[in-house]
Amino acid sequence: MSSQTGNHGDKPIGSPAANHAGIPMGNRFLESLSFQSRESLVSRSTSVRLPIRSSLYAAEAVPEYAYFITSGMASLVASMADGKSAEVGVIGNEGIVGAFQLLGPAPLPTECFIQITATALRIRFFDLRTAFRSSEEIRDRVLEVVQEQSLCLSQLAGCNRLHEQEERLARWLLMMQDRTQTDVMEITQEFLAQMLGAKRTTVTVVASALQRDGLIEYKRGKIRILDRARLEAAACGCYLVMSNLYVNLYKHPWATGAAHKANSELPWSASTEAS
Ligand SMILES: [Zn+2]
Repeated sequence: MSSQTGNHGDKPIGSPAANHAGIPMGNRFLESLSFQSRESLVSRSTSVRLPIRSSLYAAEAVPEYAYFITSGMASLVASMADGKSAEVGVIGNEGIVGAFQLLGPAPLPTECFIQITATALRIRFFDLRTAFRSSEEIRDRVLEVVQEQSLCLSQLAGCNRLHEQEERLARWLLMMQDRTQTDVMEITQEFLAQMLGAKRTTVTVVASALQRDGLIEYKRGKIRILDRARLEAAACGCYLVMSNLYVNLYKHPWATGAAHKANSELPWSASTEAS
């Protein structure tokens, strides 16, 4: 009874409307900015489609472009010397691909690529860095999203070490659905194994268990979420931690800008007095 109908298909969060220039506007970071700040970035951006496996930046490299994702998903992946790899972060329409590189000159050991076919506004990294340095509002919002990504990263580090494959897979599927608003995700076993840092055979066993219990359907490289409520119950507690970070991004009471009006929705607003 809690299963979702899937009738929203591949429609991204907020079904990005076009702005006056015909550019899709479905990115929560951009939407959190004042009109002036948003336009200063959008006017320097180009709308792009990003197929699965598109590389957005390589490890150790300064990116040529940053991306405001408007639909779909990008994955941050850490690769080891022995060829193994694991996902250490995800970025959907809440964030900016390239935000970490704004903080300083240290090369990132992670790479970033598209995991679920995406649309984005692409801006030259140089232009974003200029805006980051010159606008207090843009800097504040960038720091907010970088903080969220950093906190998720530390949670994932604990999750990857301490939690079982089945609860991690459930957590991962929920995070995907939150960011894409789809019930059906196209993903190969090999890719799923890479994301979870597990063997393919392990992924098969774990996905089969969730399927047997009626939580998901997994066939021909597609995973369909059948029962979201039970999938939440099956996920590790990391999902709730990261979901709260994701939902409350750009809503913090001390933040300035357009997101202020959403403060009444904060979970602590009922029990904590604003200063
Ligand atoms: Zn976990």
